Amino acid sequence: MADMVVVRKEGLYCVPGNFYIDPWRPVDRAVITHAHGDHARMGHGHYLSAASGVGILKSRLGQDIHIDGLEYGARIEHNGVTISLHPAGHVLGSAQVRMEHKGEVWVASGDYKVEPDRTCVPFEPVKCDTFITESTFGLPIYRWDPEQSIFDDINAWWRKNAAEGRCSVVFAYSFGKAQRILSGLDPSIGPIVCHGAAEPLNRVYREGGVALPPTVMVTDVEKAALKSAIVIAPPSAAGSPWMKRFGDYSDAFASGWMQLRGARRRRGVDRGFVLSDHADWPGLMTAIRATEAPRVIVTHGSIPVMVRWLRQVGLDASGFDTEYGDDEAEEKAPAEAANA
Ligand SMILES: [Zn+2]
Ligand SMILES: [Zn+2]
Repeated sequence: MADMVVVRKEGLYCVPGNFYIDPWRPVDRAVITHAHGDHARMGHGHYLSAASGVGILKSRLGQDIHIDGLEYGARIEHNGVTISLHPAGHVLGSAQVRMEHKGEVWVASGDYKVEPDRTCVPFEPVKCDTFITESTFGLPIYRWDPEQSIFDDINAWWRKNAAEGRCSVVFAYSFGKAQRILSGLDPSIGPIVCHGAAEPLNRVYREGGVALPPTVMVTDVEKAALKSAIVIAPPSAAGSPWMKRFGDYSDAFASGWMQLRGARRRRGVDRGFVLSDHADWPGLMTAIRATEAPRVIVTHGSIPVMVRWLRQVGLDASGFDTEYGDDEAEEKAPAEAANA
């Protein structure tokens, strides 16, 4: 049987359905797994996403995009392909795309995480014949601690800095990571300040029913109170004039890459918190096994290592070359350059 999904110059293409999944060049019909900049781009004719992701996509791509929201698990048919979206546990509104055509099922994962958290619907394994998996942290060295232990570490660090009269600054991606950290902060320690890149997204999360502690903009806080504050800011704010107002501060970076000592040194921060919105190695393996798919196609990340490993355990594995990036490291959406 011919492959249901192939790579074209515009992006991953569902052949019988005649639509794209997270295309990197403008197309007529795009199914979007989630609103990170490398997966959700401007300029497509029609967008389809999980219903819970519509607000985020509009806030990032423009209120006037043509977008349909599909509830998780609901089915629609497009050119004979039955499409449904299933929770990916990555960020608010993230979905895996299930495509069924003439009895054959393919699932494209987008980005996913298997550990549940408070900011999005938990990952749901979907049985399929072919599973297209990401591999951002597809090396056996990547193993995450439970998120509560990371939140405990962040709160302890913040409490200590506050007691010593020093502001705490955490650099984290504005969409997803920032809200995940917020969900674990203890607001009794001090004020929680959010950079202007993250605050509009906090609003969409709250409107979507996600409980986050109260946050303020830096202009709303007395200078003296900043000494006990925690600040969530995008990595691009590091070294910018915006940072000057915090005086003597301790800083940290929150990312799965912080598991690597060298990555923290390159960031030049005081602390690294190993917190990722992607599956770690055991998580990837668990998720792949749960699909029961005999065939696995690996995208962005550690493609050769994962492919070799999956072949060793008897799966028909190969890779797809894509233009998806690394949402753990950088801000990519231009709308987030604003520094308010
Ligand atoms: Zn992502
Ligand atoms: Zn990705």
